Amino acid sequence: MSATYPNLFKPLDLGFTTLRNRALMGSMHTGLEEAHDDFHALSAYFAARARGGVGLMVTGGIAPNRLGWLAPFGAKMSTRSEAKAHQHITGAVHEEGGKIAMQILHAGRYAMHPMLVAPSAVRAQISPFKPWEMPSWLIRSTINDFATSAALAREAGYDGVEIMGSEGYLINQFIAPRSNRRKDQWGGSFENRIRFPLEIMRAVRQKAGKDFIVIFRVSMLDLVEDGSTWDEVEQFALRIQDAGATMINTGIGWHEARIPTIATMVPRGAYAWVTQRLMGKLQIPLITTNRINTPETAEMILREGYADMVSMARPFLADPDFMAKAAAGKSELINTCIACNQACLDHIFKGKAASCLVNPRACRETKFPGSLWEPERIPPNEHQFKVAVVGAGPAGLSCATELAARGQEVHLFDAAAQIGGQFNMAKLIPGKEEFYETLRYFGHLLEKTGVQVHLNTRVSTEDLIAGQFDHIVLATGVVPRTPDIPGIEHPKVLSYLDVLAGGKSVGEKVAVIGAGGIGFDVSILLSSAEYENSLLAREGRGGLRNVESIPSNAENLEGAATHYYQEWGIDTTYQNRGGLSKPAVEKPTRQIWLLQRSKGKIGERLGKTTGWAHRLTLKARGVQMMADVQYEKIDDAGLHLLVKGEPILLPVDHVVICAGQNTERSLLIPLQMAEQNVHIIGGAKEAAELDAKRAIEDGLLMANAIVNH
Ligand code: FAD
Ligand code: NAP
Ligand code: SF4
Repeated sequence: MSATYPNLFKPLDLGFTTLRNRALMGSMHTGLEEAHDDFHALSAYFAARARGGVGLMVTGGIAPNRLGWLAPFGAKMSTRSEAKAHQHITGAVHEEGGKIAMQILHAGRYAMHPMLVAPSAVRAQISPFKPWEMPSWLIRSTINDFATSAALAREAGYDGVEIMGSEGYLINQFIAPRSNRRKDQWGGSFENRIRFPLEIMRAVRQKAGKDFIVIFRVSMLDLVEDGSTWDEVEQFALRIQDAGATMINTGIGWHEARIPTIATMVPRGAYAWVTQRLMGKLQIPLITTNRINTPETAEMILREGYADMVSMARPFLADPDFMAKAAAGKSELINTCIACNQACLDHIFKGKAASCLVNPRACRETKFPGSLWEPERIPPNEHQFKVAVVGAGPAGLSCATELAARGQEVHLFDAAAQIGGQFNMAKLIPGKEEFYETLRYFGHLLEKTGVQVHLNTRVSTEDLIAGQFDHIVLATGVVPRTPDIPGIEHPKVLSYLDVLAGGKSVGEKVAVIGAGGIGFDVSILLSSAEYENSLLAREGRGGLRNVESIPSNAENLEGAATHYYQEWGIDTTYQNRGGLSKPAVEKPTRQIWLLQRSKGKIGERLGKTTGWAHRLTLKARGVQMMADVQYEKIDDAGLHLLVKGEPILLPVDHVVICAGQNTERSLLIPLQMAEQNVHIIGGAKEAAELDAKRAIEDGLLMANAIVNH
């Protein structure tokens, strides 16, 4: 029992078994489910999280039959040989004292293969394929397949299953009128639409036995038109309980919903109110979910009665030792998930195995064993060195802490007064406050691992030679690119550094040159009312909205999210089907043009799972997004463009340059000439395609290379 988080660490008695605490690691597809390695990597991944103390884990979605595959040859549980292979996973988890349930997921019309089936032949907007309408015999056999899958999961050693009934997958497709247009006993009335999931629940309970955890994930807020009403959600949850569920988990939003529900701009705990509406109405435990990423938020949600258990998925990718650290009273050392989706969901959408931006070990536990919480599990060093790391941005922080955790003498230098490099700008963008948490984490990790930090220290070649280091790692990052446009020296031209780090004010009409990640971020900042309100406050605080404002009590959990609900049209009074309302568009504070030279969609290279939300935000705020432009000149009149050959003048007060970056590696050649043992990582190594994911991973790889040099 933890004194700091008594509710989070309270065991949960399920009658036939007890969970050691109230934290569930929610289902995440990692891409390891399909790896042809006898589940070696997946077992190590789950074992690390079991060792880290989470109460119960749920696997990624496993199909009950071929038609239910998410993608061709996806993971499936329908044969005894498949069950046998899964014993590797369950054995590894049990050996570490953990518990694990297998999620049974039938993709229905979301399947990315042409043999997709659904209650009705209605194509999902996000799918290229129209599904086949399921005949009655197929509905019956699918119910049976769910039950067989659950029984096989039990045979494989799982402690339970989760039946995926939300997020717009097959079961959800039966429940909602949006996708169920049937006129037979499986469609039409509410009673008919819930027949399929109820029969699945009963069949699973019957075939898997009484003493087996069965979580049913109910879509409590569809966030699509023609979704369920609240009354239907409540009725359905009661019926699922009566049909034999052990616990009910919360599902929020279909995949086709045009509302971000887990991205970093979603406030913490913004959906706990949905689960709370059911609290007190059922006898079985309720699990809440979405954007819960710290033990403090989890504890508050449990303490205030929003739910009986808290599901966190990505936070356990970011830190397998989340619960162990919380239990030890060391939550400041938790590597917090910043909800960027860059290495988890965006990888999965590209067909790559998931990992984590802040934790490159995630899903690669066999390649990078151990963790910085348990450095003794990392294979021992071959050498002891004195190492200089120049630059305390993400790359330098990662490299320095990895090296120091393995007993190397590490000196970390940065010219700035604080650690973090460009993350100090990223955290200022409204909706990106979570980036602050990465800096908090590294700040404490530097201390724990004993890195000697030298801030306000711009090092020169001479300094480094005088330091007599065995290795010098340059993590000096990047400098903004200055495009070659006539008039670029005009006083109305600012760089993103001037705006974000220099605090220079920006006029009412602004052109942003460059529609990459930073151009979008700057446009979001400049079009946000918060920017106006905080310009003054900023002087003393060194930042715009700060994470200190993250809510610590139930009252302002929803209060802090009010703006988000309004901006995206989420009806917390649940008057309409699906919980939608009309979005309240933020009145534009200034006129902004976001520009790119290339043709095609603006911001094409933004993350698959977040880019669309950024584009929608800017569109709603009246930002003009223009592709295929040529920059002619900048003068007192404004920015002169050629758009499809036509001259256009944007009469702007300021032009903000976000045109990418070049490497900062001025120390490299002098150090090489002085025959120093010099290495280069992060932005300093390669500016093109740089992001923090690569920077942090580079740090780990370089540390490994040095200790095994
Ligand atoms: P940097 O972060 O640039 O750090 C380099 C450090 O070296 C600096 O602190 C600098 O002071 C120091 N330095 C340089 N020369 C010397 C010297 N001679 N002596 C001492 N110190 C020196 N990435 C993402 O992946 N996702 C995002 O959502 C995202 N959002 C962003 C938003 C904004 C507004 C910005 C500006 C960047 C964003 N990035 C994002 C990019 C990300 O921050 C960078 O990719 C990452 O910081 C690069 O890390 P780095 O360690 O290589 O370099
Ligand atoms: P970027 O993504 O490479 O974008 C640079 C933009 O500038 C492009 O739109 C490019 O488009 C334009 N450009 C390039 N050269 C130019 C020139 N000479 N003149 C005029 N325009 C030019 O770089 P960034 O926005 O600076 O971001 C840096 C890194 O941080 C990125 O790699 C990104 O991954 C990361 N980041 C990520 C996020 C995120 O949310 N995931 C957010 C911020 C930053 P055209 O050439 O078509 O004009
Ligand atoms: Fe969280 Fe980003 Fe890591 Fe995904 S990649 S787990 S969203 S920090």
